[in-house]
Amino acid sequence: MDLTLSPTTTPQRAGLYIHIPFCRKKCHYCDFYSTGAATKGRIDEFIAALRQEMELQRSFWPDEYDTLYLGGGTPSLLSLDQLAEIIDTVRKTFPLTQDAEQTIEANPDDITPAYLRGVRSLGFNRLSLGLQSLRDENLIWLGRRHKVAQGLWAIEAARQAGFNNLSLDLIFGLPERLPTAGQGQNSLSLWLRELDEAICYEPEHLSCYQLSYEPHTLIMRQKQQGLIQPLTEAEEADYFLETSALLESRGYLHYEVSNFSRGEKWLSRHNQKYWQHIPYLGLGPSAHSFARGRRCWNHRSLSLYCQTLKQGSLPIAGEEILGPEELRLETLYLGFRTRRGIHLTEFCRRFGQNLLSDPPGLANRLIDEGKLEVRGEWLCPTRQGLAIADALALMW
Ligand code: SF4
Repeated sequence: MDLTLSPTTTPQRAGLYIHIPFCRKKCHYCDFYSTGAATKGRIDEFIAALRQEMELQRSFWPDEYDTLYLGGGTPSLLSLDQLAEIIDTVRKTFPLTQDAEQTIEANPDDITPAYLRGVRSLGFNRLSLGLQSLRDENLIWLGRRHKVAQGLWAIEAARQAGFNNLSLDLIFGLPERLPTAGQGQNSLSLWLRELDEAICYEPEHLSCYQLSYEPHTLIMRQKQQGLIQPLTEAEEADYFLETSALLESRGYLHYEVSNFSRGEKWLSRHNQKYWQHIPYLGLGPSAHSFARGRRCWNHRSLSLYCQTLKQGSLPIAGEEILGPEELRLETLYLGFRTRRGIHLTEFCRRFGQNLLSDPPGLANRLIDEGKLEVRGEWLCPTRQGLAIADALALMW
Protein backbone atom coordinates (compact mmCIF):
# COMPACT_ATOMS: atom_id res chain seq x y z
CA MET A 1 0.00 0.00 0.00
CA ASP A 2 1.42 3.40 -0.98
CA LEU A 3 0.93 5.76 1.92
CA THR A 4 2.71 8.72 0.36
CA LEU A 5 1.06 11.95 -0.70
CA SER A 6 1.06 13.17 -4.26
CA PRO A 7 2.26 16.75 -4.73
CA THR A 8 -0.82 17.58 -6.81
CA THR A 9 -3.05 17.68 -3.72
CA THR A 10 -1.58 20.97 -2.53
CA PRO A 11 -4.56 23.26 -1.97
CA GLN A 12 -4.15 26.89 -2.98
CA ARG A 13 -7.42 28.71 -2.35
CA ALA A 14 -8.10 30.43 0.97
CA GLY A 15 -9.84 28.85 3.94
CA LEU A 16 -12.52 30.37 6.15
CA TYR A 17 -12.69 29.52 9.86
CA ILE A 18 -15.44 30.62 12.24
CA HIS A 19 -14.94 30.23 15.98
CA ILE A 20 -18.16 29.60 17.90
CA PRO A 21 -17.19 30.69 21.42
CA PHE A 22 -19.68 28.77 23.57
CA CYS A 23 -19.37 25.58 25.62
CA ARG A 24 -21.85 24.23 28.13
CA LYS A 25 -18.99 23.46 30.51
CA LYS A 26 -15.23 23.60 30.36
CA CYS A 27 -13.46 20.30 29.71
CA HIS A 28 -10.64 19.62 32.14
CA TYR A 29 -7.84 19.69 29.58
CA CYS A 30 -8.99 22.47 27.27
CA ASP A 31 -7.46 25.90 26.79
CA PHE A 32 -9.41 26.96 23.69
CA TYR A 33 -11.34 30.15 24.19
CA SER A 34 -15.00 29.65 25.10
CA THR A 35 -17.57 31.01 27.49
CA GLY A 36 -20.34 29.18 29.32
CA ALA A 37 -22.94 31.94 28.88
CA ALA A 38 -24.71 30.35 25.91
CA THR A 39 -28.09 32.04 26.34
CA LYS A 40 -30.14 32.80 23.24
CA GLY A 41 -29.56 36.52 23.75
CA ARG A 42 -25.79 36.07 24.02
CA ILE A 43 -25.65 33.84 20.94
CA ASP A 44 -27.76 36.29 18.93
CA GLU A 45 -25.47 39.14 20.00
CA PHE A 46 -22.47 37.08 18.88
CA ILE A 47 -24.06 36.32 15.50
CA ALA A 48 -24.82 40.01 14.94
CA ALA A 49 -21.17 40.83 15.69
CA LEU A 50 -19.96 38.01 13.46
CA ARG A 51 -22.05 39.30 10.56
CA GLN A 52 -20.56 42.73 11.07
CA GLU A 53 -17.06 41.22 11.08
CA MET A 54 -17.79 39.44 7.79
CA GLU A 55 -18.95 42.70 6.27
CA LEU A 56 -15.80 44.53 7.39
CA GLN A 57 -13.50 41.74 6.19
CA ARG A 58 -15.20 41.35 2.81
CA SER A 59 -13.08 43.94 1.02
CA PHE A 60 -9.78 42.90 2.66
CA TRP A 61 -10.16 39.31 1.54
CA PRO A 62 -11.13 39.09 -2.10
CA ASP A 63 -9.94 35.48 -2.36
CA GLU A 64 -12.06 32.55 -3.35
CA TYR A 65 -12.54 30.06 -0.52
CA ASP A 66 -12.64 26.33 -0.89
CA THR A 67 -13.08 25.46 2.79
CA LEU A 68 -15.38 26.57 5.56
CA TYR A 69 -14.78 25.28 9.07
CA LEU A 70 -17.03 25.94 12.07
CA GLY A 71 -15.06 25.10 15.18
CA GLY A 72 -14.94 26.20 18.74
CA GLY A 73 -16.07 26.13 21.34
CA THR A 74 -19.10 24.06 20.47
CA PRO A 75 -20.82 24.88 17.17
CA SER A 76 -23.45 22.21 17.87
CA LEU A 77 -24.81 24.38 20.72
CA LEU A 78 -26.28 26.65 18.05
CA SER A 79 -29.79 25.98 16.79
CA LEU A 80 -30.37 25.22 13.11
CA ASP A 81 -31.84 28.71 12.68
CA GLN A 82 -28.75 30.29 14.20
CA LEU A 83 -26.46 28.19 12.00
CA ALA A 84 -28.56 29.07 8.95
CA GLU A 85 -28.17 32.77 9.68
CA ILE A 86 -24.38 32.40 9.79
CA ILE A 87 -24.18 30.28 6.65
CA ASP A 88 -26.49 32.58 4.76
CA THR A 89 -24.23 35.55 5.54
CA VAL A 90 -21.10 33.58 4.65
CA ARG A 91 -22.54 32.73 1.22
CA LYS A 92 -23.59 36.32 0.56
CA THR A 93 -20.26 37.74 1.68
CA PHE A 94 -17.51 35.36 0.58
CA PRO A 95 -17.12 33.44 -2.67
CA LEU A 96 -17.19 29.76 -1.68
CA THR A 97 -16.30 27.32 -4.44
CA GLN A 98 -18.94 24.82 -5.58
CA ASP A 99 -16.97 21.93 -4.16
CA ALA A 100 -15.98 23.65 -0.91
CA GLU A 101 -15.21 21.36 2.03
CA GLN A 102 -17.62 22.50 4.75
CA THR A 103 -16.91 21.12 8.19
CA ILE A 104 -18.75 21.53 11.45
CA GLU A 105 -17.58 20.26 14.83
CA ALA A 106 -20.21 18.61 17.01
CA ASN A 107 -20.40 17.12 20.47
CA PRO A 108 -22.21 13.77 20.59
CA ASP A 109 -24.68 14.79 23.29
CA ASP A 110 -25.94 17.88 21.44
CA ILE A 111 -27.22 16.22 18.32
CA THR A 112 -30.40 14.50 17.19
CA PRO A 113 -31.15 12.86 13.83
CA ALA A 114 -33.22 15.91 12.82
CA TYR A 115 -30.40 18.27 13.81
CA LEU A 116 -27.87 16.31 11.76
CA ARG A 117 -30.18 16.27 8.73
CA GLY A 118 -30.65 20.01 9.14
CA VAL A 119 -26.90 20.60 9.34
CA ARG A 120 -26.41 18.49 6.23
CA SER A 121 -29.05 20.45 4.33
CA LEU A 122 -27.28 23.70 5.25
CA GLY A 123 -24.42 22.47 3.07
CA PHE A 124 -22.06 20.95 5.62
CA ASN A 125 -20.46 17.93 3.99
CA ARG A 126 -17.95 16.99 6.71
CA LEU A 127 -18.65 16.31 10.38
CA SER A 128 -16.00 16.31 13.07
CA LEU A 129 -17.26 14.45 16.13
CA GLY A 130 -15.63 15.11 19.50
CA LEU A 131 -15.54 11.51 20.71
CA GLN A 132 -12.26 11.88 22.66
CA SER A 133 -12.42 8.46 24.33
CA LEU A 134 -14.29 5.17 24.15
CA ARG A 135 -14.02 4.60 27.90
CA ASP A 136 -16.54 6.27 30.21
CA GLU A 137 -14.09 6.66 33.11
CA ASN A 138 -11.76 8.62 30.84
CA LEU A 139 -14.57 10.79 29.48
CA ILE A 140 -15.47 11.69 33.07
CA TRP A 141 -11.87 12.48 33.94
CA LEU A 142 -11.53 14.64 30.82
CA GLY A 143 -14.67 16.52 31.85
CA ARG A 144 -16.64 15.59 28.75
CA ARG A 145 -20.42 15.77 28.89
CA HIS A 146 -21.23 12.62 26.94
CA LYS A 147 -20.98 8.88 27.53
CA VAL A 148 -19.37 6.37 25.19
CA ALA A 149 -22.79 5.04 24.13
CA GLN A 150 -23.81 8.54 22.98
CA GLY A 151 -20.60 8.87 20.97
CA LEU A 152 -21.18 5.58 19.17
CA TRP A 153 -24.81 6.45 18.57
CA ALA A 154 -23.72 9.80 17.09
CA ILE A 155 -21.51 8.03 14.54
CA GLU A 156 -24.46 5.93 13.32
CA ALA A 157 -26.75 8.96 13.31
CA ALA A 158 -24.24 10.95 11.26
CA ARG A 159 -24.09 8.19 8.66
CA GLN A 160 -27.87 8.01 8.48
CA ALA A 161 -28.05 11.77 8.02
CA GLY A 162 -25.84 11.39 4.94
CA PHE A 163 -22.39 12.36 6.21
CA ASN A 164 -19.94 10.34 4.15
CA ASN A 165 -16.97 12.36 5.37
CA LEU A 166 -16.72 11.78 9.09
CA SER A 167 -13.81 12.68 11.32
CA LEU A 168 -13.46 11.40 14.88
CA ASP A 169 -11.38 13.15 17.54
CA LEU A 170 -9.64 10.95 20.08
CA ILE A 171 -7.18 11.73 22.87
CA PHE A 172 -4.48 9.28 23.91
CA GLY A 173 -1.70 9.10 26.46
CA LEU A 174 -3.95 9.51 29.50
CA PRO A 175 -2.22 9.06 32.87
CA GLU A 176 -2.65 6.68 35.76
CA ARG A 177 -4.75 8.40 38.41
CA LEU A 178 -5.08 8.27 42.17
CA PRO A 179 -8.63 7.81 43.60
CA THR A 180 -8.76 11.53 44.49
CA ALA A 181 -8.37 12.35 40.81
CA GLY A 182 -11.06 9.90 39.69
CA GLN A 183 -9.16 6.62 39.76
CA GLY A 184 -8.30 5.22 36.37
CA GLN A 185 -6.02 2.69 34.80
CA ASN A 186 -4.48 3.42 31.47
CA SER A 187 -2.05 1.54 29.31
CA LEU A 188 -0.91 1.39 25.73
CA SER A 189 -2.86 -1.83 25.14
CA LEU A 190 -6.08 -0.31 26.51
CA TRP A 191 -5.63 2.67 24.18
CA LEU A 192 -4.98 0.46 21.15
CA ARG A 193 -8.15 -1.45 21.95
CA GLU A 194 -10.10 1.83 21.99
CA LEU A 195 -8.56 2.83 18.70
CA ASP A 196 -9.41 -0.55 17.21
CA GLU A 197 -13.02 -0.06 18.20
CA ALA A 198 -13.11 3.38 16.58
CA ILE A 199 -11.63 1.96 13.36
CA CYS A 200 -14.52 -0.54 13.21
CA TYR A 201 -16.80 2.40 12.40
CA GLU A 202 -14.65 3.15 9.34
CA PRO A 203 -14.36 6.93 9.78
CA GLU A 204 -12.86 8.63 6.76
CA HIS A 205 -10.63 10.65 9.06
CA LEU A 206 -9.23 10.39 12.57
CA SER A 207 -7.54 13.07 14.66
CA CYS A 208 -5.61 11.39 17.47
CA TYR A 209 -4.17 13.93 19.88
CA GLN A 210 -1.62 13.18 22.54
CA LEU A 211 -2.91 14.59 25.83
CA SER A 212 -1.12 17.81 26.70
CA TYR A 213 -1.13 19.66 30.00
CA GLU A 214 -2.02 23.28 29.31
CA PRO A 215 -1.62 26.05 31.89
CA HIS A 216 -4.69 26.85 34.03
CA THR A 217 -6.46 23.55 33.30
CA LEU A 218 -7.73 21.15 35.94
CA ILE A 219 -5.50 18.33 34.74
CA MET A 220 -2.47 20.60 35.02
CA ARG A 221 -3.39 21.26 38.66
CA GLN A 222 -3.74 17.52 39.26
CA LYS A 223 -0.32 17.00 37.71
CA GLN A 224 1.21 19.69 39.93
CA GLN A 225 -0.43 18.12 43.00
CA GLY A 226 0.96 14.68 42.12
CA LEU A 227 -2.51 13.13 41.75
CA ILE A 228 -1.73 11.69 38.36
CA GLN A 229 1.21 9.91 36.82
CA PRO A 230 1.82 11.45 33.38
CA LEU A 231 3.54 9.39 30.71
CA THR A 232 7.30 9.54 30.44
CA GLU A 233 8.81 10.79 27.17
CA ALA A 234 9.66 7.22 26.19
CA GLU A 235 6.07 6.11 26.86
CA GLU A 236 4.74 9.03 24.82
CA ALA A 237 6.93 7.96 21.91
CA ASP A 238 5.63 4.37 22.20
CA TYR A 239 2.01 5.54 22.15
CA PHE A 240 2.69 7.71 19.12
CA LEU A 241 4.52 5.05 17.11
CA GLU A 242 2.05 2.28 17.95
CA THR A 243 -0.91 4.51 17.08
CA SER A 244 0.63 5.28 13.72
CA ALA A 245 1.52 1.64 13.08
CA LEU A 246 -1.96 0.37 13.91
CA LEU A 247 -3.73 2.95 11.78
CA GLU A 248 -1.41 2.51 8.81
CA SER A 249 -1.86 -1.26 9.03
CA ARG A 250 -5.60 -0.59 8.60
CA GLY A 251 -5.11 1.55 5.52
CA TYR A 252 -5.02 5.01 7.08
CA LEU A 253 -2.59 7.59 5.79
CA HIS A 254 -0.66 9.19 8.65
CA TYR A 255 -0.41 12.53 6.90
CA GLU A 256 0.22 14.88 9.83
CA VAL A 257 1.46 14.34 13.38
CA SER A 258 -2.08 13.97 14.77
CA ASN A 259 -4.11 13.28 11.63
CA PHE A 260 -4.98 10.17 9.65
CA SER A 261 -7.20 9.66 6.63
CA ARG A 262 -8.43 6.75 4.54
CA GLY A 263 -6.44 7.98 1.55
CA GLU A 264 -5.88 11.36 -0.05
CA LYS A 265 -9.53 11.92 -0.85
CA TRP A 266 -10.28 12.40 2.84
CA LEU A 267 -7.43 14.64 3.95
CA SER A 268 -8.65 17.67 5.85
CA ARG A 269 -8.41 20.27 3.11
CA HIS A 270 -8.94 23.05 5.64
CA ASN A 271 -6.20 22.06 8.07
CA GLN A 272 -3.68 21.78 5.26
CA LYS A 273 -3.93 25.54 4.84
CA TYR A 274 -2.54 26.00 8.35
CA TRP A 275 0.33 23.63 7.63
CA GLN A 276 1.23 25.03 4.22
CA HIS A 277 1.03 28.79 4.81
CA ILE A 278 -1.99 29.06 2.54
CA PRO A 279 -4.13 32.11 3.41
CA TYR A 280 -6.96 31.63 5.86
CA LEU A 281 -9.39 34.07 7.38
CA GLY A 282 -10.47 33.44 10.96
CA LEU A 283 -13.64 35.03 12.30
CA GLY A 284 -14.98 35.08 15.85
CA PRO A 285 -13.29 35.60 19.24
CA SER A 286 -9.67 34.36 19.40
CA ALA A 287 -9.64 33.29 15.73
CA HIS A 288 -6.36 33.68 13.81
CA SER A 289 -5.87 34.77 10.20
CA PHE A 290 -2.87 34.49 7.92
CA ALA A 291 -2.01 35.96 4.52
CA ARG A 292 1.11 37.18 2.75
CA GLY A 293 3.36 36.72 5.78
CA ARG A 294 1.06 38.51 8.24
CA ARG A 295 -0.70 36.70 11.04
CA CYS A 296 -3.30 38.41 13.22
CA TRP A 297 -5.69 37.28 15.91
CA ASN A 298 -8.95 38.47 17.40
CA HIS A 299 -9.75 39.40 20.99
CA ARG A 300 -10.01 36.38 23.26
CA SER A 301 -13.10 37.79 24.94
CA LEU A 302 -16.64 37.62 23.62
CA SER A 303 -17.59 40.93 25.26
CA LEU A 304 -14.63 42.80 23.82
CA TYR A 305 -15.17 41.16 20.44
CA CYS A 306 -18.83 42.26 20.30
CA GLN A 307 -18.12 45.70 21.71
CA THR A 308 -15.35 46.45 19.17
CA LEU A 309 -17.51 45.41 16.25
CA LYS A 310 -20.45 47.45 17.54
CA GLN A 311 -18.13 50.45 17.33
CA GLY A 312 -17.44 49.60 13.69
CA SER A 313 -13.86 48.32 14.11
CA LEU A 314 -12.28 44.96 13.44
CA PRO A 315 -11.76 43.02 16.71
CA ILE A 316 -8.05 42.45 16.12
CA ALA A 317 -6.03 42.01 19.32
CA GLY A 318 -2.58 41.62 17.79
CA GLU A 319 -0.55 40.82 14.73
CA GLU A 320 2.88 39.68 13.67
CA ILE A 321 4.66 40.13 10.40
CA LEU A 322 6.77 37.11 9.64
CA GLY A 323 10.17 38.06 8.26
CA PRO A 324 12.25 35.70 6.10
CA GLU A 325 13.81 33.93 9.11
CA GLU A 326 10.47 33.41 10.87
CA LEU A 327 8.94 32.13 7.64
CA ARG A 328 11.90 29.78 7.14
CA LEU A 329 11.54 28.36 10.65
CA GLU A 330 7.77 27.99 10.35
CA THR A 331 8.12 26.30 6.98
CA LEU A 332 10.48 23.78 8.59
CA TYR A 333 8.32 23.37 11.66
CA LEU A 334 5.07 22.91 9.72
CA GLY A 335 6.67 20.88 6.94
CA PHE A 336 8.23 18.32 9.28
CA ARG A 337 4.85 17.85 10.95
CA THR A 338 3.41 16.54 7.68
CA ARG A 339 4.29 13.30 5.91
CA ARG A 340 4.56 15.21 2.65
CA GLY A 341 7.53 17.06 4.13
CA ILE A 342 9.35 19.97 2.53
CA HIS A 343 9.86 20.61 -1.17
CA LEU A 344 13.63 20.91 -1.50
CA THR A 345 13.82 23.11 -4.61
CA GLU A 346 11.04 25.41 -3.45
CA PHE A 347 12.63 25.77 -0.01
CA CYS A 348 15.99 26.62 -1.60
CA ARG A 349 14.35 29.15 -3.93
CA ARG A 350 12.56 30.91 -1.04
CA PHE A 351 15.23 30.79 1.65
CA GLY A 352 18.51 30.13 -0.16
CA GLN A 353 19.22 26.97 1.84
CA ASN A 354 19.81 23.51 0.45
CA LEU A 355 18.46 21.32 3.24
CA LEU A 356 20.45 18.31 2.01
CA SER A 357 23.84 19.98 2.34
CA ASP A 358 23.37 22.87 4.75
CA PRO A 359 24.38 22.28 7.49
CA PRO A 360 26.76 19.64 6.14
CA GLY A 361 25.99 16.06 7.12
CA LEU A 362 22.77 16.75 9.06
CA ALA A 363 20.26 15.48 6.51
CA ASN A 364 22.35 12.38 5.76
CA ARG A 365 22.66 11.56 9.45
CA LEU A 366 18.89 11.84 9.96
CA ILE A 367 18.26 9.76 6.84
CA ASP A 368 20.68 7.10 8.14
CA GLU A 369 18.87 7.12 11.49
CA GLY A 370 15.56 6.49 9.72
CA LYS A 371 13.99 9.81 10.70
CA LEU A 372 13.93 11.41 7.26
CA GLU A 373 13.77 10.18 3.70
CA VAL A 374 14.00 11.80 0.28
CA ARG A 375 11.07 11.13 -2.04
CA GLY A 376 11.66 12.77 -5.39
CA GLU A 377 11.84 16.49 -4.69
CA TRP A 378 10.65 16.18 -1.09
CA LEU A 379 12.45 15.78 2.22
CA CYS A 380 9.94 13.85 4.31
CA PRO A 381 9.78 12.72 7.92
CA THR A 382 9.33 8.99 8.43
CA ARG A 383 7.07 7.75 11.24
CA GLN A 384 10.06 8.07 13.61
CA GLY A 385 10.65 11.56 12.24
CA LEU A 386 7.05 12.63 12.83
CA ALA A 387 7.46 11.55 16.45
CA ILE A 388 10.13 14.24 16.90
CA ALA A 389 8.83 16.71 14.32
CA ASP A 390 9.29 19.84 16.42
CA ALA A 391 12.85 18.91 17.37
CA LEU A 392 13.70 18.21 13.72
CA ALA A 393 12.80 21.74 12.69
CA LEU A 394 15.15 23.22 15.29
CA MET A 395 18.12 21.28 13.91
CA TRP A 396 18.20 23.54 10.83
S1 SF4 B 1 -16.20 21.18 24.26
FE1 SF4 B 1 -14.27 21.45 23.13
S2 SF4 B 1 -13.85 23.66 23.14
FE2 SF4 B 1 -15.43 23.25 24.72
S3 SF4 B 1 -14.28 23.03 26.62
FE3 SF4 B 1 -14.55 20.97 25.76
S4 SF4 B 1 -12.71 20.62 24.50
FE4 SF4 B 1 -12.82 22.82 24.93
